[in-house]
Amino acid sequence: MRSPIPDYLTQALADVGADTSGAPAGYIPELAAADPELLAAVFATVDGEVYGAGDLDVSFTIQSISKPFAHALALADRGFDAVLDKVGVEPSGEAFNEISLEVGSGRPLNPMINAGAITTHWLTGSEEMDSSERVERVVSGLSAFAGHRLEVDESVCASEMEHAHRNLAIGHMLRSHEILTEDPTAVVEGYIRQCAVLVSARDLALMAATLANGGVNPRTGERVVSERVVRQVLSVMSTCGMYDAAGDWATQVGIPAKSGVAGGLIGALPGQIGIATFSPRLDPHGNSVRGVSLFERFSSDMGLHLMEVPPAARAVVRSNHVVGTGPDAVRVFQLQGGIRFAGAERVVREAVDTAPAETTVALDLTRVSSIDDVARRMLLEIARRLTLDGHDVYLVDPESILPDPDPGDGGRVIVVGELDGPGDPAGQGG
Ligand code: GLN
Repeated sequence: MRSPIPDYLTQALADVGADTSGAPAGYIPELAAADPELLAAVFATVDGEVYGAGDLDVSFTIQSISKPFAHALALADRGFDAVLDKVGVEPSGEAFNEISLEVGSGRPLNPMINAGAITTHWLTGSEEMDSSERVERVVSGLSAFAGHRLEVDESVCASEMEHAHRNLAIGHMLRSHEILTEDPTAVVEGYIRQCAVLVSARDLALMAATLANGGVNPRTGERVVSERVVRQVLSVMSTCGMYDAAGDWATQVGIPAKSGVAGGLIGALPGQIGIATFSPRLDPHGNSVRGVSLFERFSSDMGLHLMEVPPAARAVVRSNHVVGTGPDAVRVFQLQGGIRFAGAERVVREAVDTAPAETTVALDLTRVSSIDDVARRMLLEIARRLTLDGHDVYLVDPESILPDPDPGDGGRVIVVGELDGPGDPAGQGG
């Protein structure tokens, strides 16, 4: 059987292909000359499967899509305090190249507009680095997100530098507010090299998938940045990634995203997939026209909107019953599925409401697929309180879904592989 996913992508490209509105970025000849008909869409799953259609291996410059990744590198290299001290996280509602800083502090509002991105570039690597070492840090960092070495397009870079008056103005303004404390020309040059890194839609999808996968590249297995950094970056992407169209995007598409003026667009859906599209014609915000249409379509066709409320999780308490009789009776709470806060609350409620009369109580985790940290603490607290109430608490956990179960403070659990005969949960010798 052939996978239906590439066919779906091919159909989606055919459907948006008729839209020829917008125009490629015109501020430098290299971007203005882009073939406006190029079109690609790629999905990369968090386990590294790539599905694509169209021109998925054509190279173009990453431009502003580098911004969230550089932000991630700065957070990883310098820490949150040092970065937040210089660049805020508030949506500006302004165009990407607005010459604006926060009143009072002089900080750029966020790392997605140019003022913030120029500062962010400067915050990557270590303070001692010179500008070429910093560029190398950024290019190698972007490469780690993509999973292979990326190169810089020298002609785009040179041309951007010749037309960089606005970015240089922003750089000088940052210098005058002492946000930058060194020659702004070198920093702006470094930022422009960062924007001129060549990628394909395939690369971008894998970069987005690395974010969706909590910072680990799903192909190479390399941890590029920590989960905490990814959470920060995806949050900023969702509030600021689409500039002055961020609110429209958040409601219509609902996927943390970032666009670039060469026509690329990425979205990262935590725990699911990285998506990339490529089509050079831009709307007045500087976002790819067909890219935006494709994302709107993907979001609605596949229910990818982050705020879409999932169907209430299947009851976490699969059954609550007693096996055995008399003094051998065991109260069994059989749990199932993935347990997070709301699921654990159901278990707490079940245990409280039941107030088991049986001395032995078993929490059966055989059908549980995952337990997050808060759910783990809540289940262990149930075990502790049951112990204090005089119960013997068994944890039926054949796959160690809840390893090292120590309820602490007077609590005690006995781990067994299966609930054996009626009234004999410890029948395995556990
Ligand atoms: N190099 C471009 C600039 O700084 C990137 C802007 C973008 O992609 N939105 O103006």
